[in-house]
Amino acid sequence: MPKDDIINPVPMEDDAAYDDQIRPQRLQDFPGQDPIKEKLLITIQAAKQRKEPLDHLLLSGPPGLGKTTLARILANEMGVDIKQTAGPVVERQADLSAILTSLEEFDILFIDEIHRLNHAVEETLYSAMEDFEVDIMLGKGPTARSMKIGLKPFTLIGATTRTGLLTPPLRARFGDTCRFDFYSPRELQQIVLRAARILEAPIEQEGALEVAARSRGTARVANRLLRRVRDYAQVKGDGVITREVADAALRMLRIDELGLDDMDKQIVQTVIEKFSGGPVGLSSLAVAVGEERQTLEEVHEPYLIQIGFLKRTPQGRMATPRAYKHFGLRPPATPQGELF
Ligand code: ADP
Repeated sequence: MPKDDIINPVPMEDDAAYDDQIRPQRLQDFPGQDPIKEKLLITIQAAKQRKEPLDHLLLSGPPGLGKTTLARILANEMGVDIKQTAGPVVERQADLSAILTSLEEFDILFIDEIHRLNHAVEETLYSAMEDFEVDIMLGKGPTARSMKIGLKPFTLIGATTRTGLLTPPLRARFGDTCRFDFYSPRELQQIVLRAARILEAPIEQEGALEVAARSRGTARVANRLLRRVRDYAQVKGDGVITREVADAALRMLRIDELGLDDMDKQIVQTVIEKFSGGPVGLSSLAVAVGEERQTLEEVHEPYLIQIGFLKRTPQGRMATPRAYKHFGLRPPATPQGELF
């Protein structure tokens, strides 16, 4: 199966319909990310009591963990509308001004990949976030003049996979930041059981846990795998997703017991075999495995670091003894004769 099928952060069209069907709508239906939910419950209640919009909020973390979903949930909880766009889509200041002036009081503007806004557009955001006003250019050429337009109080929710790429002035204008963590297998099990219930797919607890444990800590992956495991159960079994059925389906999909797909394995094996365990720079690694640097950095690497297969050093990425062991190899000895 092409790897993009599992991890591609941009849903295909039928995936979009599937996503909409199972996307949680309220905070109480959203399993996992407990520290974030706890904090937001208070924020929501406080904003409602004061009859104010939510503070501008930055959501950060790897793709597929629920940033977009949470932004929509916040709109539902506040009873306001949400408009959604993405950093690379808003090309001109005028595009952003048009969106901002269309917002009603307390509405939410969600900007995905906010670190990819161009500089001029980002500057327009500063006064919009801080003073709820934008400068609009009237006319063209030498007679052009700018005019300030007031905006209705709104909330900006920005999502980013790369907090480090946000400029300090933009970051400083967010009232709060929520960092998403990978889900535990138990949390993903809840997500799988919930999605299966909505899809009316018969599933056993152990079947859900098997899918969960192999979903690389990511809600989007769990939902995608569930769909494929459900097909497998229907065609090869009696429709019920048991642990055995889930295991057989995931083996067929070449997802190993840790949830690693072919690209993950290739990355680790390349570091070990072609670069003697590292350190190796990300660009060289990207060329060696034939994948985009950005995909390596945002999708594969965070999970490989999380499970302790790769580590980041100032000199580059290194494979850990754990990674060697997983592939049945012996880690090299350090100059002191110890295993590093
Ligand atoms: P992100 O914006 O972080 O890339 P999304 O919000 O688009 O992630 O979520 C990806 C998919 O995972 C969606 O189908 C969404 O319904 C599902 N999802 C994300 N988080 C959860 C969760 N906590 N519970 C259930 N489903 C979730």
